[in-house]
Amino acid sequence: MQDVLLLNADYSPVRVLDWRRAVTLLLDDKARLVEHYEGRQIRSPSTTLPWPAVVTLTSFARHRGKVRFNRQNVLARDHWTCQYCGTAPRGTSGRPLPGELTLDHVVPRSKATRGRVTRNGRSMPVTSWENIVTACRPCNQRKADKSPKAAGLVLRSRPRRPTPWEGVSMLFSRVEIPDEWRGYLAA
Ligand SMILES: [Zn+2]
Repeated sequence: MQDVLLLNADYSPVRVLDWRRAVTLLLDDKARLVEHYEGRQIRSPSTTLPWPAVVTLTSFARHRGKVRFNRQNVLARDHWTCQYCGTAPRGTSGRPLPGELTLDHVVPRSKATRGRVTRNGRSMPVTSWENIVTACRPCNQRKADKSPKAAGLVLRSRPRRPTPWEGVSMLFSRVEIPDEWRGYLAA
């Protein structure tokens, strides 16, 4: 494990960094070292540093914790599982098979007005965390251009934007979380 947990100035988790990026932030005084990996060091010709495990930004970054909205992140949020029937396609090694999954607009695009839809009394962009879910191909075909109810399908969870920490845990959904990070992930 060489990755570094980046905390905002208020110690809330922001994201996971490559160690090289973390060292650059430390050397530029843009971040401070909070925890290091015991017994490990980074050596360069001019200096030796403890290997960073957790660093905190020196000034508060407002939008750094936003999880990027894209196909890969929606599939990870939904644990590579169809949100209608619960099918979770896995390969022989147990790895998810993203190619077997599609993204579905809960309220179909055809019902959008100026790019927005209303669901449960809330207005939202038609293509957003709140209106896009993972669906297997059969469910997607069955649903087509209908609402879930009209297609006889029920959503298994309420789709929403992941919190910054959920974003971090999504990255590591199949990897151990280092002990050095544990005290900073409760938020
Ligand atoms: Zn399905």
